[in-house]
Amino acid sequence: MTRRFNFCAGPAALPESVLQQAQQELVDWQGAGLSIMEMSHRSSELVGIANKAEQDFRDLLNISDDYAVLFLQGGASTQFSAVPLNLLGDKKSADYVNTGQWSKKAIKEAQRFCDVNVVASSEDTNFTTIPAFDSWQLNKDAAYLHYTPNETIGGVEFFDVPDVDVPLVADMSSTILSRPIDVSKFGVIYAGAQKNIGPAGLTMTIVRKDLMGNASAHCPTMLDYKTAADNDSMYNTPPTYSLYLAGLVFAWLKEQGGLAAMEQLNRRKAEKLYSYIDNSGFYANPVELSSRSLMNVPFTLASADFDKAFLAEADEAGLLNLKGHRSVGGMRASIYNAVPEEAVDTLINFMKDFAQRNG
Ligand code: PMP
Repeated sequence: MTRRFNFCAGPAALPESVLQQAQQELVDWQGAGLSIMEMSHRSSELVGIANKAEQDFRDLLNISDDYAVLFLQGGASTQFSAVPLNLLGDKKSADYVNTGQWSKKAIKEAQRFCDVNVVASSEDTNFTTIPAFDSWQLNKDAAYLHYTPNETIGGVEFFDVPDVDVPLVADMSSTILSRPIDVSKFGVIYAGAQKNIGPAGLTMTIVRKDLMGNASAHCPTMLDYKTAADNDSMYNTPPTYSLYLAGLVFAWLKEQGGLAAMEQLNRRKAEKLYSYIDNSGFYANPVELSSRSLMNVPFTLASADFDKAFLAEADEAGLLNLKGHRSVGGMRASIYNAVPEEAVDTLINFMKDFAQRNG
C-alpha cells in the first residue's frame, strides 16, 4: 500500500492512523459483532460514540454549555438556508459580507428568505483582500451578520473576528479546527465535515442556545435547530459512520496536542509554502499578505501553458489534487490538519524542480 499526498480542497485528507483504526474496526466494532454502519443509532454503542465525539469537539473548541453542538446533514450548503430560517425571527433583513464564491452562494440562498444587505465586498480586488472593518455598512436592524472566515476557493482568511452588535454567523467549513477560536463571540458556526472534521455527509453546527426556538413557521422540521437540539441530533437517522469517523478525528486532534498545537503546525506549513512561492520568481499567489489562508493556498505558474505538465508530473510524484478551482484556474494546495508537514516539503521540492526545468 502506498498512500500519496492529497491536497484536495474537500473531501480532504484524513489522518492515516484514523483510517487504519477504522479499517481495523470495520467488520466488527470493538467486539460488538457488527459494523458501526449496521448499528441502530439508538443503540448504546452508537449513542456512546456520538456523546464522546460531541465532548471531544467541545473540549477542542472550548465550547461552553451556552451552546448546542448539532450533528446535521445536507452540507454547509443547507446551512445557507437554515441560518435565515432559524434566525430571522420577526426581522426582515440580514447583513452579509462578500469575500468570495462561498459568500456569494450564502448570499444568494439568503435572498430567498430576506432582504440581504451586503455590508462589504472585496469583489473589486477579485476577492484577494478582506474589506477593512471600518468600511462596513452595518444595518442595526439586521437579524444577524454572516461571513465566511475562510474562502476555500480564493484562499482568503479572516484573522480577526468582526465586532458587531447582532449575532455573528460564520461558515467555517474550511477553517474549523485549524486553530483555536473564541466561540463565545459567535451566534452560529457551521461547517461541512469533509475538510478538517471527517468524511462528507456530516455538518457540524454550533448554536448559541438563546437563538433557538424562533424558527420561521415555514422552516422544515429537519432544518429547525431546536428539533436537532431537543433530540440530541437524532430526530431522524444521523450519518452514523461519518459521525464515528469524525469522532476518531477529534480524538486524534486531542492526541496531537489540540488546536494550539495544530495552529503552530499549520502556520509553519503555510509560511514555508507562501515564502517559497513569493521568492520563486516562477509561482505567484495573489492574496494580500495579511489575509492569506492557512488552509488553502492558490497559486499560478509563470504561464498557464505549464499547468497541464505540472499536474501530470505532480501526480507522478505522488502529489494529488493540486488543480485550482475552475473559477480561478492555476493550482491550489489545500493543507488541512491531516496533510503532514512532509507533504508540504515534498510539494515545495517538486515545485522547485519543476521551476528549474521550465523557468
Ligand atoms: N462553504 C465553504 C467555505 C466551502 O468550502 C464549501 C465546500 N467546499 C461549502 C460551503 C459547501 O459545502 P457543502 O459541500 O458541505 O455543502
